[in-house]
Amino acid sequence: MNKWEQIQGIYVHIPFCLQKCLYCDFASFAQKSDKTMAKYTDKICGEINQHISDMYINPQATIYFGGGTPSVLPIKYIEKIVAALKNKGLWQKPTEVTIEANPGTISAESLQAYRHMGFNRISFGIQSMQDSELKAMGRIHTAREALAAIEMARSAEFTHISVDLIYGYPGQTIKSVTNSLETIVKQGIKHLSVYGLVVEEDTPLQKKVETGELLLPGEDDSGDMYDFIEKYLIQQQYRRYEISNYALEGEESKHYLLYWQYLPYLGFGVSACSFNGKERKTNPYTIEGYLNEAEPLIEKLSPADTLAEYIFMGLRTSQGINLEIACKRFNVDIKKRYEQEIKECQSKGLLQVDAGETSFSLTEFGMKFGNQVFEKFL
Ligand code: SF4
Repeated sequence: MNKWEQIQGIYVHIPFCLQKCLYCDFASFAQKSDKTMAKYTDKICGEINQHISDMYINPQATIYFGGGTPSVLPIKYIEKIVAALKNKGLWQKPTEVTIEANPGTISAESLQAYRHMGFNRISFGIQSMQDSELKAMGRIHTAREALAAIEMARSAEFTHISVDLIYGYPGQTIKSVTNSLETIVKQGIKHLSVYGLVVEEDTPLQKKVETGELLLPGEDDSGDMYDFIEKYLIQQQYRRYEISNYALEGEESKHYLLYWQYLPYLGFGVSACSFNGKERKTNPYTIEGYLNEAEPLIEKLSPADTLAEYIFMGLRTSQGINLEIACKRFNVDIKKRYEQEIKECQSKGLLQVDAGETSFSLTEFGMKFGNQVFEKFL
C-alpha cells in the first residue's frame, strides 16, 4: 500500500492557554476552568472512541499534541486522552510523539509524566530570549525560565527538543534576534522553527500596529534578520528542511513532514483537521461549538485542488516535488502540465530542477519569496 493511502499521523488539539499572546490567532482560549478542561477531555476521548476509520492506520503513525498549550492541561487529563488513543489502536508504535509546551507551565514532575506516557519529543514555544520582547508579546515566561525549561526537559531525558522563535516583532532588532538565536543554539537544541511575524487580523497586535502604538521593524531590518538567521543556522550545521524549519541531521520533525508531503492524518479536538487525501474535515473553532457538537466543516477536494495543494505543500520543503512520486500519486506529468510556470520561476532564480530532472524545489532565493512561486501553481 502506498504511504498516501494510510493514516500517517494523529493530531490532538488542546485549546487552553494561561494568557493570550498579542499576536496569536490560533484556536486557543485563556483562563478556562478545570470543569471546562474536564468536559473537553471527555469530549475529545468520545471523539477518539467514536472514530470510524475508513483508512489503514500506519502502526508507526506519529502523534502530536499541539495547541494552545497542551502543558496547561492537567496530567490526569492528558493521561486520559493518551489512554483513549491507545485503546482505539491509534497509538501503536509511533516513531515520534510530540507535546508542545510553554516554559511557564511545566515542572519536573509533569515532564517525567509525559516521558512515562511515551512522549519522546517536546516542542517549546519560546519566541525570544529577551524579557522585554517576551513581555511585549504577552508571553507568560521569562528568558531565564525558558533556559530552565530546556534543562528540565533534558533531565527528564527528552532527547528531541525543539524551540520556536519569532522574528520581525515590534521592538526586535537584528542585535536582539541574533542574541536570542545564539543563546538557543548554544543550548544544543537540535530542531528550530523560526517564524517571521505575521500580523494576523483581529489580534490585539493588529490594533496596536494600526494605531501606531507598536511599530514593526522596517523591511530592511526584517530582511537582515531573515538573512542572519539563515546564514547563521547553516553555519551551525542545521539543515533548512522547510521554509521556517531547521534541524540537525536526523532531527527533522516526522510529523511536520507528513503535512508537507500531503499525507493522510487524523485530528481530534477544537479546530483540528483530518485529511484522507480527498476530503478535509475541520472541527468547530470554539470550545462551546465543539462541546455542543456543532457540525464539522467538510471540504471535498477535486483532483485539481489536491494537485495544487500537494505542490504548494511540497514546495515548502528543501526536497521539493519528486516528479515520479507525484506522477504515481496523481497520474499527471507535473513537468509537462506546469512547463510554463516552472520555466518562468526558473528564469527568475526562484525554482531549481535537479540535474537528473527527477525533482524541482525552491532555490535559497525562492525560499525568501515563496509566495511568488506558490501563486503560480494555485
Ligand atoms: S501560548 Fe501559543 S497558542 Fe497560547 S496564546 Fe500564546 S501563541 Fe497562542
